[in-house]
Amino acid sequence: MKAFQLLRFGDALVQREWELPALTGTQLLVQVLAAGVCHTDLHVKEGSFDIGDGHSLHFASRGLQLPKVLGHEVVAKVVAVGTDAPSTLVGTTALIYPWIGCGNCPACSAGRENLCATPAFLGTWRDGGYATHMVVPHWRYLVDIGDVDVEKAAPMACSGLTMYSAIKKLGSRILESPVLIIGAGGLGLMGVAIIRALGGAGVVIADIDQCKLDAAEAAGAMATLNVGVDGWRSRAATIFPTGVASVIDCVGNTATSAVAFELVGKGGNIVLVGLFGGKSAWPLPLIALKAVTIQGSYVGNLGELHELMALVRSGAVKSDFVTQFPLGKVNSVLEELAKGRIVGRAVLTPDCC
Ligand SMILES: [Zn+2]
Ligand SMILES: [Zn+2]
Repeated sequence: MKAFQLLRFGDALVQREWELPALTGTQLLVQVLAAGVCHTDLHVKEGSFDIGDGHSLHFASRGLQLPKVLGHEVVAKVVAVGTDAPSTLVGTTALIYPWIGCGNCPACSAGRENLCATPAFLGTWRDGGYATHMVVPHWRYLVDIGDVDVEKAAPMACSGLTMYSAIKKLGSRILESPVLIIGAGGLGLMGVAIIRALGGAGVVIADIDQCKLDAAEAAGAMATLNVGVDGWRSRAATIFPTGVASVIDCVGNTATSAVAFELVGKGGNIVLVGLFGGKSAWPLPLIALKAVTIQGSYVGNLGELHELMALVRSGAVKSDFVTQFPLGKVNSVLEELAKGRIVGRAVLTPDCC
């Protein structure tokens, strides 16, 4: 098999080759058909998250050991199974749920493996899908994609699931008034598609990149807000004459958290999913005075991925913003993503076997 490994934090991924692994127990060997490229991979590659004031949260200090194969948005075909897994699975094509936990803690027992304190996430803590093959520990992590294209199904494991879980946290509010999504990257466009599929009242997308805002409009956003140009506040007031009830911040930096807090109205909700980095300086009395709910949301659980894929299989989620690249281009795609030059979602497909 071939795979692109992160050998050292900060370095480019290195292509390596080794024998297909022997399987044990419930393990499955899958052949990767499509692997989405996520902004989180940049953080893993660099080895840390910026948590503001010059401080960082390092993967190494949390026990992440290299080398690792990144890539957590994977659609793959089962090609071999361990002795305790049903052989009928061979030939099955599925989306892989990557947010695997320890399996024993209260979070895992409650079906929230994504919140496990000792994660075993595929593509971070265990080898992922920037490869021809990968090992999945159990068939419970296979999610049916029906006849959805593999390139469109792959991003559902992270960007789709992240947005679905964040949108669920807003409950029926999405039916009552438009949601403001900050960040018109892969996550933001996915948010537009999912809110539309759920019959929401619409999405307004804010960004500072007009090219990405145009893509958001093409993806079905009802309006866009360029917060990098003068006059954006008055435009926001025109779009939201009674204030913003719901904000999803897909960027998560100092500037976007300030925009989210400034625009959210009384009794409003802010859901933070972006991991860009930094700190916010929200005026504390205003959190109470505006009765704002600020909530974090991190990827999503396996049950939510099944719900999302049912919606995707129904054809309701129009995610026509995926661009395909050969697996061999993974480093240049990551570089382009870091420079903010990827519009929509980049998905790698095998080119070397
Ligand atoms: Zn991701
Ligand atoms: Zn756990």
